[in-house]
Amino acid sequence: MIKAVTGTKDILPDEIPAWKLVEKTIERIFHNFNYKEIRTPVFEETSLFARGIGEETDIVGKEMYSFTDRSENNITLKPEMTASVVRAFIEHSLGKQQSLNKLYYVSPMFRQERPQAGRLRQFHQFGAEALGSTSVYLDVEMIQMAFEILKELGLKDLNVKINSLGTPESRNAYKEKLRKFLIDKKNKLSEDSRKRFDKNILRIFDSKDENDKKIMKDAPLLLDHLDSESKESFEIVKETLKLSGIPFEVDPYLVRGLDYYTKTTFEIISGKVGSQNALCGGGRYDLLAEHLEGEPTPGVGFAAGIERILLACENEKSLKSPEENIDLFITRLDDELSQKVFEIALNFRRKNLSVDCDYLDRSLKAQMREANKLKAKYVLFIGGDEYKSGMANLKNMESGEQKLVQIDKLDEVLLSQK
Ligand code: AMP
Repeated sequence: MIKAVTGTKDILPDEIPAWKLVEKTIERIFHNFNYKEIRTPVFEETSLFARGIGEETDIVGKEMYSFTDRSENNITLKPEMTASVVRAFIEHSLGKQQSLNKLYYVSPMFRQERPQAGRLRQFHQFGAEALGSTSVYLDVEMIQMAFEILKELGLKDLNVKINSLGTPESRNAYKEKLRKFLIDKKNKLSEDSRKRFDKNILRIFDSKDENDKKIMKDAPLLLDHLDSESKESFEIVKETLKLSGIPFEVDPYLVRGLDYYTKTTFEIISGKVGSQNALCGGGRYDLLAEHLEGEPTPGVGFAAGIERILLACENEKSLKSPEENIDLFITRLDDELSQKVFEIALNFRRKNLSVDCDYLDRSLKAQMREANKLKAKYVLFIGGDEYKSGMANLKNMESGEQKLVQIDKLDEVLLSQK
């Protein structure tokens, strides 16, 4: 039997109400902050991600779904969205039409990671990117939007972590200090960290190896080596978060290892989803547009994983997705009336009522069972003597009240209840 590919997941009809609720919440909150939706293709040229995310990252180095198509193009299924959004921003000169572009997206992403709870190979992210301003209030806005969405979904066990990465200049000076600190400890580091020592030293802070962690505890911290401008904006981030009533902690170990990340970086962690506990992450990337050969354009953004958020919602029992039901179920007392039932159904479907009827030649009892299962608000009984005189019984399933109505006046009765 052919099954879904490892690490991919069908989203079955029962799960859709929760997804829709999440999607509606995302749309509403982004609209409240005046962000406009952008959609980009599912695949891009591989070089975009190699450049936009960085060759040394796990995503580019190990996890991308890359292939050569029949025209020998190097293609990659997008593993994240920032590079695609910035590519589209540059390609369509969005910065010329508007000095600040506030954009959001919801999209599937693809990474060949080892599947486990909360970690898939096709998953869905939503997120935002604000391109065109260095305002620190946009940094805070990212955290506010992510936090509001999670809060609206009923999540309580949230931990907002923030840090500042400074400017590339202050970071380079700091990296030199870190190198000096680690040089005589290099041999004690794990193999991965030894590699990072040469390629991307900051990422040694991300190591899960216990011994590495012990060594890094005494390492100098980037946060203590910030330039004055970054320090000032970090103070504003903290103050504004406090004023917004968003609890947070400063985590000096939260690093993003790439040179075009600048200043604010953040993550929101859930206490309820096991080891894959980061619900969202983001930060400022003032040098990325230039790096992708666009006009220098400051940017800041975040991305959040929908599957992981739904897992947290399930574990916190926080989501009350609305029940799906239908307006009307039409039962047929007599087989010859199938066509009539079908006609009445279409009439109401055209008037935006949600209507269903029987297609399985079921008994009246079985049709009623079906109507109950579908949580129909009304059931209409077509047939019998009343039908011969142009009438039918309409039952209000909530109150149990049943009344005889004229079939050609049904419109009035039903639409007035809508
Ligand atoms: P990143 O782009 O790696 O910063 O990830 C942003 C968010 O996307 C994470 O916090 C997760 O919620 C989600 N995410 C990342 N990778 C996966 C994955 N393989 N499966 C499910 N969700 C993921």
